[in-house]
Amino acid sequence: MSISRNLVRIIKIPLRANKKDLAISIIAIIFTAALQMSIPYLLGLSIDKAFNNNIDQNLSIIPFIQIGILVFLLSFARGAFHYVHMFTGEKIGQSIAYKLRKSYFDKLQNLSFSFHDTVHTGDLITKGIIDIEGVRLFVNTGILRFFLLGIFILTGAVLVLRIDLILGLLALSFIPFIGIVSSVSRLSLRQNWIRLQAQLGILTRVMDENLSGVRLVRSFMRQKYELQKFSIASSVVRKTTFRQIFIKSTSISINSFVFLISMSLVVYFGALAVTEQTITIGELAALVAFMSILQGPVRHIGQLVNSIARASAASSRLYDVLDHSIEVKNNQKSIQFNDPVEELKIENLGFSYGKNEILKNISFFANPKHSVGIVGPPGAGKTTLSRLLPRFYNLNSGRILLNGTNIEDINLEHLRHSVNLVDQDLFLFSDTFRENVRFGKPSADQDEIKSSTLKAHIYNHIDNLPERFETLIGERGVQLSGGQRQRLSVSRTFLFHSKVVIFDDSTSAIDTQTEKEIREEMSELGENITLIVIAHRISSVMNLDEILYLDNGTILERGNHNELIKLDGRYANLYKMQINPELKVI
Ligand code: ADP
Repeated sequence: MSISRNLVRIIKIPLRANKKDLAISIIAIIFTAALQMSIPYLLGLSIDKAFNNNIDQNLSIIPFIQIGILVFLLSFARGAFHYVHMFTGEKIGQSIAYKLRKSYFDKLQNLSFSFHDTVHTGDLITKGIIDIEGVRLFVNTGILRFFLLGIFILTGAVLVLRIDLILGLLALSFIPFIGIVSSVSRLSLRQNWIRLQAQLGILTRVMDENLSGVRLVRSFMRQKYELQKFSIASSVVRKTTFRQIFIKSTSISINSFVFLISMSLVVYFGALAVTEQTITIGELAALVAFMSILQGPVRHIGQLVNSIARASAASSRLYDVLDHSIEVKNNQKSIQFNDPVEELKIENLGFSYGKNEILKNISFFANPKHSVGIVGPPGAGKTTLSRLLPRFYNLNSGRILLNGTNIEDINLEHLRHSVNLVDQDLFLFSDTFRENVRFGKPSADQDEIKSSTLKAHIYNHIDNLPERFETLIGERGVQLSGGQRQRLSVSRTFLFHSKVVIFDDSTSAIDTQTEKEIREEMSELGENITLIVIAHRISSVMNLDEILYLDNGTILERGNHNELIKLDGRYANLYKMQINPELKVI
């Protein structure tokens, strides 16, 4: 999709949704430009009038007072229209930004995991903040300024050329020059700014890693090395900022120089014309005043070009995300699903990340009376399998059936309410314990929260904190150990009342005692619901009804604990390594 097409889409938003404000703003722009341009014109007329009146009399102050009052009134009116144009322009910009931010965030909530896997979170945040800001600014500094500059330059040109063709052309001669210089300088400032952003990103990363890894740095006494790394990154930033200052100052100086030269030429040749009586003194004054007024907007041509370039790039990056197709979504025959789960059946499942085949021909079933454990070496595909059950990704082959219905035909919201994954990447929000626990059920009352945290063996810990459930978790709140985080995450699942619960390595980072407690809770859960447990520790799965040993994306061994021990294969080896090295299979 071309860049300009995306820019047109941005321009179409206010044309569709902010017609009234856009019309008010454009009318205000026309009045602003007309009033501003009338000031030098009236100034010229008044000067001529004052001179003509006073040729034979003593010079009177009255015409000048009249000019002063007139200019004051016109400036006041111009200011009022300028205010209206700025205000409505900003209002349109803010409303576009608001709409884009909302649809962008909404899209991110719905885009499939396959999309999130391939993009950097930082890039998505940049698009959502900086690119939307670029589009917002485009309304005032791009669309409306285009009108303002156009009207200024056109009316200015007509007015000066009417005074005198040659002098008029001379008075306008600085426009293309300053237009080009300011555009070139703005575009190179932009390139430099993009470079600066990247360099500041590196500087932030160096600082962030240094602070996060402060213990490692001190342990290995690498402060000097870290300081050196920081000062290299910092001096790169300094160089780029110097270049920024250089470009800005050069362009301002060149533009002022060019303007003053053309102004001097107009004054010189204008004075000659006055003495030759081709133009009046008032017309010369008007010419000079027109030039002074025009130079401001002309210098803004660079900003206009920059705004268009920035908004083009920003809009194409934004629409890249907004137009991205959503792979995992409800299909037309999606059905509601609120029934108790009788069976979760996986049939010949196959899955790849891109071309990388991860799971092959996986079949098993689970139900409230048939819990399943999955073990296997790292990289076997266990986590991937766990993420396919709530349909975070679509399968490449095979089916997953919930009570006989393909999960692709079940409404996603209903499916994810029925099948809940306690992921190994436990995530807690920087919010209170209460809100973290009831994340899946915001309406939960204190009794429900208490019961779920009691079951997850985290209640006593929270209850002993000074602000109990109102205590904040995270950067400025309390810090939690791995085991506490996991228990909190489990309490969230208890409260969510899902019918199928998948624990993906949920006991990996905790001590044996806590693991035992969580395992007890898992068995309690198992009485009512379908339980699937992925674990590295044999002790987490050995009591389940069926255990699958997964390696390289296929099920190598399956059966209950005793059967697998008897088989004396990979599972039995794992058992010997972790629990009983003396095990002899008879
Ligand atoms: P396990 O949980 O058994 O350690 P995973 O399911 O996490 O295994 O990973 C299986 C394979 O899939 C690994 O080779 C891993 O590199 C790859 N993999 C995991 N997640 C992704 C992803 N989001 N995109 C591409 N490849 C992935």
